[in-house]
Parts: sequence; structure tokens; C-alpha cells
Amino acid sequence: MNMTGIVYRPPYEANSLLLQVTLGCSHNKCTFCSMYPGVQFKVCPMDQVEADIKEAAHYYPNVRRVFLEHGDAFVLSSDRLMSIADAIHRNLPRVETIAMYASIQNIRTKTDEELQRLRSAGINDLDIGVESGLDPALKYMNKGHTAAEAQEQLLRLTQAGMEYSFNAILGCGGAELWKENADATADLINAVQPHLLFIGSLHAGPGCRLYQDMQSGAFKECTIGQLLNEQDRLIRRLDLKDTYYFGSHPSNLVPMQGRLPEQKQDMLEAVEAIRKHLLPHLEEYPVRGGEGSILNR
Ligand code: SF4
Repeated sequence: MNMTGIVYRPPYEANSLLLQVTLGCSHNKCTFCSMYPGVQFKVCPMDQVEADIKEAAHYYPNVRRVFLEHGDAFVLSSDRLMSIADAIHRNLPRVETIAMYASIQNIRTKTDEELQRLRSAGINDLDIGVESGLDPALKYMNKGHTAAEAQEQLLRLTQAGMEYSFNAILGCGGAELWKENADATADLINAVQPHLLFIGSLHAGPGCRLYQDMQSGAFKECTIGQLLNEQDRLIRRLDLKDTYYFGSHPSNLVPMQGRLPEQKQDMLEAVEAIRKHLLPHLEEYPVRGGEGSILNR
């Protein structure tokens, strides 16, 4: 199967068939992102996608889940996504779910009827980098959406019967706005009640603007203590009916997963336990390794 460029996927798509339908990201300008540097966004030709699906059907005829690559495959028109879904179901009849990364802008360009049609074709479990509910943080991170726009579009997805992962980044507001970031992000999450909440913490690699701003001091990142405070504050403020909290990303100080609201107290205790463990390091800045993993914890 053809696959061009570096391939990223959410951790919970480890057993999915990865199918490339685009190259790069149509936005490609989030301040913290260095996933597709210099990659010119392209839509893969349909005959190539169909050939890949046929090849996959030969090797993995019983696959049940497909994840469309790359950075925001939901940017494709509804007609193209329907054609891809149709080709998948024709060749891989056991597929139940077709998931992919999506942005708030990608949802905005589709009508309610289109969203329903896509859902009925098995498209579900979109993975959405909302990142924050705080407008100044969203603006600096150059996400291309405001908190109100994110709320509106995510509620449209729910209305269409689509589930999604709300991806949020602790530390998006930096050292100056960690409280505001926690409160506004929790409020947005509460307003949309996502099926899945994916939590990471802010990190930047060379090649993106955030990295330069951190080096120059233009962006003041959170200390270890502030990151823990933000996580504690966010979890306390969450008022969810039935959401799975996935916080096992390597960038997190407190790797944990659990169901909310049932495990809220356990999560708060896990944050507290790490705070006690890291007491001598709370004023330090995180030292990051691969995938943002924190080395001084
Ligand atoms: S939308 Fe995702 S892939 Fe695209 S620039 Fe932003 S973080 Fe990177």
C-alpha cells in the first residue's frame, strides 16, 4: 500500500487499517505543530485510494475499522468521503467505522444533511484538535476557530449522531493564563459533552513558531506545578454525563484513563499523588523528550 510522508494516528487507532486519502494538513499553521513541515496539502486521486482499498482487502479482509490519513481528512468534500466509504464497504464488508482527524473548519463546510449522510455511511469517531476553550489561547495557537464556533460545530456533529474525540492541551494559555484556560476549556467540554476526551500537554519541536517563542521567552510555558494545578482545576470543573477521559499521552505528567463522572475522585487523587511525588520540582519547567514526554518527573 502507498503511504507518503510521516503517518500519525491516535493511540486508540492502533488496530485500525490506515488508509491515505490526503497528504498533509489543509490548515498546516497551528503555532505548536510541526507534523507536516513544508508539506503541500494534496487530495489523493480516487483511483489510488481504490487501489489501496483493494490491496488492503487482499491482506486484511476482516478489518472492522479504517482510519483515513493524513492531518484533517474530513476536509474532503462530502461527495468524496461518500465515494471512499462506498469503496471501503464494497471491498471490506466487515468495516463498521471509518474514523479520521477533523478540524472545526472541516465540519463548518458541511450541511446538517451531509453530516447525517456521512454518519449513515459509517463515518464516525472524528478526532478533533479543539485544544482549548479560551479564545486568546486559540488565537495564539492559530487554530482558525473560536470557542463559540467550536461549540456550535461540535453540537452539530452530535445532532447528526456522530461521536468524536475532543482533544485538549493543558498549558495552552501558558503560565499567565493557566487558570483561565482550565476554566474555559472545562466549560466548553461541559457544553458539548464529548464521547471521548483526549488530554495532552503543550510541547513544541523545532520548526514551529511556538518553539521559537518558547526559546525567546515570548511565550511563557507552564511550570510542572502549574500544569498539575491546571489539570486539577480542569477535572474539578468538568460536569460530564458519560465521557471517557484518555490521558495516557506521553506528554502528560499524570498518565491516566477513566470514565467521567464515575472516576473523577480517583483522577483528582492521581494528580495529588504526582504532585507529592514531584514536590521538589514544581517550580521547574518540563524537560521534554520524544512526543513531548516529560523527562524530569
Ligand atoms: S490542524 Fe492538526 S495537523 Fe494541521 S496544523 Fe493544526 S495541529 Fe497540525
